[in-house]
Amino acid sequence: MRRKQKRKIYRNRRIVICLFLFFLSCAIVAGIRSFSDISSKPSAEKGTNSSLSYQTVEKKTQDIHSGDLVLVNNKTEYKFPENNRLKSVFNLKNNDYQVKDKDVLLVEQIMSPLNQMLSDFRKEKGENDLIVISGYRTKEYQAGLLQQRIKEDGAAEAAKWVAQPGGSEHHTGYALDFGIYTRSGKSEDYTGQGKYGWINENCWKYGFIVRYPSDKTDLTGILYEPWHFRYVGLPHAATIREKGFCLEEYIDYLRQFPYDGEHLQVTAEGKSYEIYFVKADGKKTKIPVPKNKTYNLSGNNTDGFIVTVTL
Ligand SMILES: [Zn+2]
Repeated sequence: MRRKQKRKIYRNRRIVICLFLFFLSCAIVAGIRSFSDISSKPSAEKGTNSSLSYQTVEKKTQDIHSGDLVLVNNKTEYKFPENNRLKSVFNLKNNDYQVKDKDVLLVEQIMSPLNQMLSDFRKEKGENDLIVISGYRTKEYQAGLLQQRIKEDGAAEAAKWVAQPGGSEHHTGYALDFGIYTRSGKSEDYTGQGKYGWINENCWKYGFIVRYPSDKTDLTGILYEPWHFRYVGLPHAATIREKGFCLEEYIDYLRQFPYDGEHLQVTAEGKSYEIYFVKADGKKTKIPVPKNKTYNLSGNNTDGFIVTVTL
């Protein structure tokens, strides 16, 4: 009787061990399968456009402070990454507009769209009296401007018009101010009215935005400045215009389109684009980029990178 009981116990133990081993092996197989799913599944399936295949580029987290989509304002200061892409507007401009002097600098990338926009303006309206009166500014220069304005109008009024040193978009080299050139040599204020309204209406086609619109002063922190233009490129300028965003709203909007989720699909000026956001992660961030497509990678100056793919 006892022997029989013992045998029964051994048999039960064997069954339990066998079942345990069976479940263990099932778990291992399932684990390997799901791991290989992660490693071998083409990343494209994660986005909405399954026709793209991706590779990874690595960026330092400090690179979020560079690129043509950096957001700069009094709350999000510019970090002044190396700025050797600046060029004198005087040397690269065409004859369809003027520039204050040889010291007005802009990022070289925006010179071609700027030249094109002002050539088209001249063709359209017959004027070549626009003058670029301000481009890149150092932090010290901005501090001087602010001090000057405080002296003239007091601190409260100055703060509405002049950004804090570090908080001006002019630090990036992607922003410029227009004036109207007159024969007397003194430039007049650019108001974006009359024939000049063409520029404020059409600048998006060339990748520029009116950075401080009249209805967004609570978000930008700066009063309406019809003369201040910022380059963000296409298709971004088109979407910003279409949605009625200011840059603060647009950069926030793009966070809704992470690489692992649905990507933003946009068409502008006859070209299709796909846009997604990659959040910065640790000291280095791995960013999926398309293998066989042209793409633009820019930091947002806050928490990540924006990839813009030309389809
Ligand atoms: Zn300006």
